[in-house]
Amino acid sequence: MTESREWDDFLLRYPGIIVSGSNARGTVKLNGKWYRLKVMCPHFPKLQEARLELLLPQQVKFTKIRKEDLEVDWTLYDLMKHLPQLQQKYSDKANPNAKSLEITDSNIYSEIAALYAPQDYQLELNDACSLLRFSKFAGYERHYLQVALPTLRITAHSLPDCVPWEEQLQKYENLSAMVQQFRNYLQDLRPFYGNFADIDELCYVVQPKPPVSTKHNWRLFVLRERVFIKLVLSDPFAPIGSMSVQIIGPTQAVEELRRTLSDGLSEWDVELDIHKNLLRIFDICYFPMPPGSGWMEVDGEVNTTEQKFCNICYSYQLEEGEIPIVSCDNPQCTLVYHAACLKEWFNTLTDGMDFLSVSFGTCPFCKTKLSTSFAELLAN
Ligand SMILES: [Zn+2]
Ligand SMILES: [Zn+2]
Repeated sequence: MTESREWDDFLLRYPGIIVSGSNARGTVKLNGKWYRLKVMCPHFPKLQEARLELLLPQQVKFTKIRKEDLEVDWTLYDLMKHLPQLQQKYSDKANPNAKSLEITDSNIYSEIAALYAPQDYQLELNDACSLLRFSKFAGYERHYLQVALPTLRITAHSLPDCVPWEEQLQKYENLSAMVQQFRNYLQDLRPFYGNFADIDELCYVVQPKPPVSTKHNWRLFVLRERVFIKLVLSDPFAPIGSMSVQIIGPTQAVEELRRTLSDGLSEWDVELDIHKNLLRIFDICYFPMPPGSGWMEVDGEVNTTEQKFCNICYSYQLEEGEIPIVSCDNPQCTLVYHAACLKEWFNTLTDGMDFLSVSFGTCPFCKTKLSTSFAELLAN
């Protein structure tokens, strides 16, 4: 225990270092440059019997610092002060002809230091200095961008999956330009995310599996009992222009609502978001809310969209997040099925058929006609 107290002053001075027993490892920033080291220091702060290792630029393995390169009376504090010279010395030996390489690499780390902007985003470097993560962008809290170092290859991001962002962003060889472009994209995508915001808050979104991430460009939500809307914004830069609205449910309801929808689309109000336009089109004040949210009544009817199990596999949520929402045309039959389970069932039918991406078959329970578009329900 006394050991860790002895380290206290050191850790205050170098907050990027983590200590466990007499082992310390981590990252320090000296004069705007980053250094990564591993230390085993049993007589802290004295360097007797200490094992010291430094990660040199462009290397994946730590380099051991030799005793003869240290002054006899040095403590760990002195070593820290001399890290820049030691790194220089070992780098020259490791790579005498590669001055330019070394400069490129130290530029990455000084660039990281220059990108430190806590008012704009959170910046984290992992313990091995191999991954850099930007997150909690101001005004876009849920977004993040993660790159591998020193290659700058993108390893994770929060932008919608339907666009090859990696390709676009990878064109920027310099990190600052890449991050700036990422932030420009966030700004450009405001209308895209804005249109989904009200739907996520004010509708009963059944798929993708809630909580919906920033990577999805579609929503499936309840319109009324047994009937669902699937909204897809295929081009995040042109949400309205690329919008598609599908109605999924029993044949009669779908036919009627499709007519209402196509009439309504011609009177689209560009001043309003998608959620408000859809309310206007279907002439309702609000969409059904999730069970338990206290908004169960829709147009005077009681909304009975409570969790129902699939009557083929007898489960609720499948691994991919799919829940049973497909029902047959018989208003008396209250059973629902997963699209994936029904697809298998349809495959076993001799009189099943597909027409214009809609599949027709019969209800496994009551044998009434059942038609649905598996492409719409399963494509994601
Ligand atoms: Zn099922
Ligand atoms: Zn049925």
